[in-house]
Amino acid sequence: MSRGDEEQHVDLEGFMAGVERRNPGQSEFIQAVREVAEDIFDFIADKQEYHRWQILRRIAEPDRIVSFRVCWEDDNNCIRVQRGYRVQNNNAIGPYKGGIRFHPSVNESILKFLAFEQTFKNALTGLPMGGGKGGANFNPKGKSDGEVMRFCQSFMTELYRHIGADVDVPAGDIGVGGREIGYMFGQYKRITNQFTGVLTGKGREYGGSLIRPEATGYGAVYFMENMLKTRGDDIEGKTAVISGSGNVATHAAEKIVQLGGKVLTLSDSEGFIHDPDGITQEKIDWVKAHKTRRRGRISEYAQEYKNATFHAGARPWSVPCDLALPCATQNELLGDDARTLVKNGCVAVSEGANMPTDLDGVHVFKEAKLLYAPGKASNAGGVAVSGLEMSQNSARISWKEEQLQQLLKDIMLGIHESCREYGQRGDYVDYVRGANIAGFKKVADAMLAFGVV
Ligand code: NDP
Repeated sequence: MSRGDEEQHVDLEGFMAGVERRNPGQSEFIQAVREVAEDIFDFIADKQEYHRWQILRRIAEPDRIVSFRVCWEDDNNCIRVQRGYRVQNNNAIGPYKGGIRFHPSVNESILKFLAFEQTFKNALTGLPMGGGKGGANFNPKGKSDGEVMRFCQSFMTELYRHIGADVDVPAGDIGVGGREIGYMFGQYKRITNQFTGVLTGKGREYGGSLIRPEATGYGAVYFMENMLKTRGDDIEGKTAVISGSGNVATHAAEKIVQLGGKVLTLSDSEGFIHDPDGITQEKIDWVKAHKTRRRGRISEYAQEYKNATFHAGARPWSVPCDLALPCATQNELLGDDARTLVKNGCVAVSEGANMPTDLDGVHVFKEAKLLYAPGKASNAGGVAVSGLEMSQNSARISWKEEQLQQLLKDIMLGIHESCREYGQRGDYVDYVRGANIAGFKKVADAMLAFGVV
């Protein structure tokens, strides 16, 4: 057997050994690839063309990674040096698309896992978008507006060479919201002298979509609603535990409340708050104002609302609940947390964050036959509305809020149906398998059409 033949006939473990050898120390990336490969190897077992053309191996090798220095001056006139990245994973079905993350933990492994996941997620939306992700190890916490602006301008001064409305269209992610997108768009426009839809998540005044801020959190709850419906159930009267207190978490909480559920927790990197009275819309507005906009700490909530308690250094998964929505960051819900949720009677988990559940936790949810939606399906509402923003920018039109809300609901239902189509196993829907296969198939079939490129 030639070396080429051997590569084509590796099993899952042989494939993963190669991924680990080629990506040393990149644990998040390896984890994301394994989670997908576990389902894809089974699916392509009898589909020779996917082996012959090495499709999964090619998707698991980014088209391009750009890494660059970002220098900026802080308010004390000190020169600061950060590292910026853009990972362009795959553009088989459309321009690269995916957020920018500013967080001190950002490194190549995290951005590669996010860009890889994004490739499948974007395919699931049904819109023509490839997968990418970017960011920098910049910590926006505690920085003045001027410092954030200077950083964003410096970041874009390099990034602008690698993006474009038909090339790569970044958006927000952790640490990047409307303010940062505004500074980056302003700098892009200044350098290129072009007003194009090169970024999404823009302000309404200059081409942003009306419901982009809400879309990821709302979408994750719509997905949960769709899953519950398959068992003749709904959100009304159910208790929900949510992690995070940023964009995705606060909007997920808002939609749960609108649909008659009771939200018990929110969190940040320092701990979680538990409010047995329920986190009402008024309280969510307080969190948005104090935590998200003023960049305060979630612990302040327990000072404002006296029945609530703050649990330092802990995650909220031990609070008994019907529904769980991890909406903070990767690997925030581990195997033991998953076992606790199952033991406490949780019936559905919808991920707002990307890869918040580790592989052990994923296996626990699958074995318990919980309604469990992986982020690449359930948090796709954000990028879907970004895709709609791209269409509006290209056509130079803007859609009304009701139209966008309906499109978001329709797209989340469409993703749910795709997951069911490929994930049905007897009486149980394995949404992870469904999302992986539906996303893979779309990208893989486009790649087959292109030959070896
Ligand atoms: P934000 O920056 O608005 O909020 C992030 C929240 O997560 C904050 O409460 C933050 O707390 C918390 N957090 C961040 N890092 C950690 C950590 N290491 N441990 C515990 N908590 C942490 O980000 P978003 O809400 O936009 O993003 C949240 C998740 O959703 C991410 O996984 C992101 O990739 C994913 N996502 C976001 C989309 C979007 O549209 N924004 C789209 C799809 C997915 P603190 O303030 O202490 O840092």
